[in-house]
Amino acid sequence: MLPLRRLSAACRRRGLAQFATGIPREAADAVVVGAGAVGLAVARALAMAGRDVVMVEAASSFGTGTSSRNSEVIHAGIYYPPRSLKANLCVRGREMLYKYCTERAIPHKRLGKLIVATGVAETAKLDMLLKSAKDNGVDDLQMMEGSQAMEMEPELRCLKALLSPSTGIVDSHSFMLSLLADAENLGATISYNTAVISGRVGDEGIELHISESKELENHSIGSPVLPQIVLLPKLLINAAGLSAIPLAKRLDGLAQAFVPPAYYARGCYFTLSQTKSPFSHLIYPLPEDGGIGVHVTLDLNGLVKFGPDVEWLDGKMDDMSCFLNRFDYSVNPTRCSGFYSVIRKYFPNLKDCSLEPGYSGIRPKLSGPGQRPSDFVIQGGCPQYSWAG
Ligand SMILES: Cc1cc2nc3c(=O)[nH]c(=O)nc-3n(C[C@H](O)[C@H](O)[C@H](O)COP(=O)(O)OP(=O)(O)OC[C@H]3O[C@@H](n4cnc5c(N)ncnc54)[C@H](O)[C@@H]3O)c2cc1C
Repeated sequence: MLPLRRLSAACRRRGLAQFATGIPREAADAVVVGAGAVGLAVARALAMAGRDVVMVEAASSFGTGTSSRNSEVIHAGIYYPPRSLKANLCVRGREMLYKYCTERAIPHKRLGKLIVATGVAETAKLDMLLKSAKDNGVDDLQMMEGSQAMEMEPELRCLKALLSPSTGIVDSHSFMLSLLADAENLGATISYNTAVISGRVGDEGIELHISESKELENHSIGSPVLPQIVLLPKLLINAAGLSAIPLAKRLDGLAQAFVPPAYYARGCYFTLSQTKSPFSHLIYPLPEDGGIGVHVTLDLNGLVKFGPDVEWLDGKMDDMSCFLNRFDYSVNPTRCSGFYSVIRKYFPNLKDCSLEPGYSGIRPKLSGPGQRPSDFVIQGGCPQYSWAG
């Protein structure tokens, strides 16, 4: 069935159709835009709370955006400012995630990670990290001398290290598949190849203009794309990831004060060509502006990768290409020269020519280069203005 017919049929099955002339208009209960890790988790939670959920996803499958372009690390909650949403949600979410993965047999591993200081000036920063992590409720960190850490990891060089035993890795695809299955088992439906292109927010409620993604593919920049269906949801969750802000800007009637500025930072990974991993823990340098440092990540198949670095992008892309995830994910091989020098600070035996271009992901950010990292923003309270960026 065509995606829009499926979407329409899903609303009709629930007795929500409103018949009108011209473009069909369908009432809906809760609409989640975007089926990445965030959209799927929200859809599952709404379905568990008894809502009728429709997920609208522009791609042909779930989780093809940032959710499949990351380090797959289950973070402990170390870096965020105390009392921030990021700190509170990460510490609580980490244990919920481990529990969920265990219950559902989702592949994951509590590998532990070492954050390392390689120069004298860095050791004070490590002490500060320990203090803020404790304030966040991360109470299992262990500060160790370099010799102790190097005994655990013979290829490592450092003066001091902070061990985080509760950091781990997860198979993000299996995780998302499980969230989707939970949501669908509770009656949620998903429409792939279907994009929200614009909408309207007003006293009468929310209107979402929806089109098949293939209609977006050949449009010329600046020309209008016409919706093929209008959805009228009681609740809208904007979980469109990199497109969340461009989409929010296309919701007519939504006060601009609700739409934060968007910044984008690409992160590239290089993989290690040798098959045997030199490390058994994740190894992190100290955080840098815009990221948490070019670290060593292992995945569940034993692949060793280094990254992500931080490359601020100008973020200028037309909205339709953005909705189709046409971002530039290429990994420029010349960036690897910067990787060698950073990695050799903690892994001096890294051989020349042992790094190969891997993949990249793009971080949607609320703060730009040189600005203080911002916290999550959850707007809502009034159902008309509920959205998640
Ligand atoms: C390099 C990098 C490394 C990271 N490492 C980690 C890590 O180790 N651990 C961790 O916890 N987090 C990590 N993150 C963050 C994590 O990946 C993201 O927080 C998470 O994947 C975001 O999920 P999402 O659902 O918001 O976005 P996405 O996965 O991008 O999903 C958004 C979805 O919306 C769809 N969409 C967009 N526009 C429209 C539209 N108009 N209509 C319909 N659908 C639309 C897209 O097709 C996409 O499927 C990392 C991020 C990056 C970039």
